Amino acid sequence: MIGPCSDALVLFGAAGDLAFKKVFPALQAMIKRGHLTVPVIGVARSNRNIAQLRDRVRDSLTRFGGGVDEAAFTKLVEQLHYVDGDYREDETFRRLRQKLGGARHPLYYLAIPPSMFRTVVVGLEQSGCAQGARVVVEKPFGRDLASAQALNRTLHRVFDESAIFRIDHYLGKESIQNLLYFRFANSFLEPIWNRGHVESVQITMAEEFGVSGRGKFYEETGALRDVVQNHLLQVVANVAMEPPINGAGEALRDERIKVFKRMKPLTAQTLVRGQFRGYRAEAGVAPDSQVETFASLRIDLDSWRWAGVPFFIRAGKCLPVTATEVVVTLKRPPQNVFGEEYGHQPNYVRFRLGPDRMAVAIGARAKMPGEKMIGHEMELFVCHQRGDEMEAYERLIGDAMIGDASLFARQDGVEATWRVMDPVLTLQTPMSEYEPGTWGPRHSHTLIEPFGGWQSPKE
Ligand code: NDP
Repeated sequence: MIGPCSDALVLFGAAGDLAFKKVFPALQAMIKRGHLTVPVIGVARSNRNIAQLRDRVRDSLTRFGGGVDEAAFTKLVEQLHYVDGDYREDETFRRLRQKLGGARHPLYYLAIPPSMFRTVVVGLEQSGCAQGARVVVEKPFGRDLASAQALNRTLHRVFDESAIFRIDHYLGKESIQNLLYFRFANSFLEPIWNRGHVESVQITMAEEFGVSGRGKFYEETGALRDVVQNHLLQVVANVAMEPPINGAGEALRDERIKVFKRMKPLTAQTLVRGQFRGYRAEAGVAPDSQVETFASLRIDLDSWRWAGVPFFIRAGKCLPVTATEVVVTLKRPPQNVFGEEYGHQPNYVRFRLGPDRMAVAIGARAKMPGEKMIGHEMELFVCHQRGDEMEAYERLIGDAMIGDASLFARQDGVEATWRVMDPVLTLQTPMSEYEPGTWGPRHSHTLIEPFGGWQSPKE
């Protein structure tokens, strides 16, 4: 544990979408494991009351928490309190101060629109609620480098960096933990995990669905800001980082951030943006919207280990499948001993990161039975598991409550990732339309063609 354990959990945005889909289910899971014994205070407006909040929690658990566990729900309800009020009014914070009673180290979870971050942080400070506290901030951490720096200044006015927990739920995912574990708990990978043996790395985050009625939200973000700057650059960092001095605390964050700092800023030549046909007809979307629902790009790392090895990323909506996958492709054998056609796939290591399954598999060739020395491709599975044992939000809220920030984004890391993205965010690079159910614009393939093309996620 780093510092004192939080003695209250305060949820701003208790009536919001994120609380409903992710936070309440995480709280039930924490209670089931005996990891949540402190008061939980929901703060929301709209003249709700505690009975309505309980109903909303029950509804959330039914729909997103795998069902209501009556014993855990009863405990959660006993611990649950409610403060009603607008975040722009001092009175809300005065009521919160009262409700906190003797709590000395509350954890504030800001599950609220980013436009409200500053108001709530200032309200906490002025009401005396911020002292000894920690704060969890939801993404997005700004929309570019300048706004991320401004947000950091706002937070630092009131909280020390060690008390700020910026959630990127990808870091809390079991499959990302497994990627890290697989890399550094084994010795066979390290000798080949470099420019001498790796040809390229590709990361796909494909979603079969569109913007699901959240057109207004998506218009503010687009694929680059929604998933690339945060989740997918974090995945690159986990694939590329040097071994940390240990597996906890700042050591992991230090190594991830070194990767961000070695990324060359994006250019228009290394980015393809696309928009699925029909996006502009979605509610809340401008009829001439230039927001990308698909992006593919090439990242280069200026490092001893990775110089010359391209990291390709593609992410998009309305693609043929929903899957997130990393494929690390190795170089071909130096000699074609058996005179086989060279069209076949080279060896690779594949990490399936989600959504509902995780796997680590190694692609190799083996001889087909028979007279001839002819082979076929096969996959050796190191692991192949269903589902997340512990949901990311459960893990991350638990970590923030004990002050462990290793799975959270740090200020210098956030700013370093925006430095990579910034040049193309202001450029308005060209955008091509693509048909729903396809893999995005055609020239997304041109980008990666010399490296064998994109691989469709496997089962
Ligand atoms: P919502 O738009 O649902 O807003 C959350 C809550 O904030 C709403 O219930 C709203 O109350 C409340 N609120 C806004 N302004 C005030 C105010 N002045 N006083 C009191 N309450 C106020 O947001 P989400 O839950 O979707 O998102 C919250 C955060 O989480 C955002 O930063 C978002 O980017 C992030 N996030 C969300 C995800 C999701 O799936 N939803 C996924 C990943 C991150 P009211 O209902 O009364 O307007």
